[in-house]
Amino acid sequence: MKDRKPWQNLRFRLVAWYSLLAGLSMLVSDGFMYLRFRQTLFDQIDNALEVTAIQALKNLDDEVDILMFDPNQETPVLSSLLNDAGVEIYLLGQDGSVKEHFGNSLVLPTQTSLKSGFKTHVTENGRWRLYTQEILSHQARPPGWLTVARSLQPVDATLQNVLNQHILKIPLLLGIVGLGGFLMANRALKPIGQITHMAEQVRVSGDLTQRIHYQSTTDDELARLARMFDEMLDSLQATFEQEKRFTAYVSHELRTPLTALKGRLHLALSQPRSAESYREALQAIEQDVDWLIQLSRDLLLLARLEQHHQDIHVEPVDLSDLLTAIAEQIQPLADLQHLQFSTHIPPNLQMQGSPDHLIRLFLNLLDNAVKYTPAPGRISLTASTQGHGIQVSISDTGIGIAPEHVPHLFERFYRAEKSRSRTIGGTGLGLAIAQEIAHRHQGAIAVQSQPGQNTTFTVTFP
Ligand code: ADP
Repeated sequence: MKDRKPWQNLRFRLVAWYSLLAGLSMLVSDGFMYLRFRQTLFDQIDNALEVTAIQALKNLDDEVDILMFDPNQETPVLSSLLNDAGVEIYLLGQDGSVKEHFGNSLVLPTQTSLKSGFKTHVTENGRWRLYTQEILSHQARPPGWLTVARSLQPVDATLQNVLNQHILKIPLLLGIVGLGGFLMANRALKPIGQITHMAEQVRVSGDLTQRIHYQSTTDDELARLARMFDEMLDSLQATFEQEKRFTAYVSHELRTPLTALKGRLHLALSQPRSAESYREALQAIEQDVDWLIQLSRDLLLLARLEQHHQDIHVEPVDLSDLLTAIAEQIQPLADLQHLQFSTHIPPNLQMQGSPDHLIRLFLNLLDNAVKYTPAPGRISLTASTQGHGIQVSISDTGIGIAPEHVPHLFERFYRAEKSRSRTIGGTGLGLAIAQEIAHRHQGAIAVQSQPGQNTTFTVTFP
């Protein structure tokens, strides 16, 4: 954790990306503005050069057969141009030879092939913008070329100035953007830091009671992440505590029959006995062992059902046939207990399920109904369709369940009436198994009961 490189740090990467993008967009927008500005300055100079050329051409002397400006003409424009230190005017012959030159800063290179238009010329004392225009012969005046030039030094200085300002501005702005990005990233990633810290604490201490309790005015992704983390810890803690309780219950449940077993063995072996009394002792021991086998089977089944990633084998099931077969199995038990057993099972109730598990579910519920209904009571098994689903109810007129027990009935090893339930002989896992099977079929079990009067368990499948 300690030797992480800076780029492995999300905060660093966010700031780096943020600054890079901000820098790039500044470069693009500033570059675009700089080029536009530069173009505008050049356009202005070119326009001014064209105007100067027009004015200068007006001052040509048409009366003489050499190329020159009219010495008699009042040339306010020319003279003002001459006063302007940045402008030079050349009158050139057709062969490029200099006929007249106003100005003293630019030495025009000897040019053999002249052509009209603008060009930029680099000299020792800076860059110059030149505009050349052809002079046609007129009256006595011979043809030739006019070149007006203007120093680009002021423009270059301005452009350099602007460039310098931008170059200075970019690191400053990048600094502000980077700092802002860092503060924002810090703020945004704070819950992640809290979650990491919390996860580390939970890992080190194994204490599942800790929570982040992240407070945020906005329900953003990170607030949701923090909340999900708290909820995950809630369910982990619940599962962990349930497991702890379960282990305690299992050891308790095992201890009672094993102690009884041990007692019986001890008693049987304490003195020589008749074959008859050994048989009686062994029969009692067999009952205890049967009970232990039943408990371990129930535990194994429950453990398998709770492994949700292990699919149970599902196939088309005719629930009507299945319930009828179960009813036939329960009938002798009900007769034995002097209970009236009635069924109402419509034909052709079809569903997808695991027949073995469904048999177990309904047998558990019917077995309870028989166990907890004293004679002369009534038990009924009713099935019906509910929309697209199927509902199966098992009712009895037995001892009922007090309201305070109802929320816990489906917990493992929960018994409403501890002494009675244990003597009747259940492992206390019947309802937990039934509920788990219903859940694995996307179904649910509900219970309604009036103590001392009746109980109805209703199983619904979607
Ligand atoms: P057990 O093996 O003790 O029957 P179950 O999980 O099947 O365990 O049932 C849990 C408890 O629910 C029972 O101990 C009993 O107190 C109560 N119970 C279940 N079914 C009925 C019923 N039909 N009438 C009254 N009490 C019931």
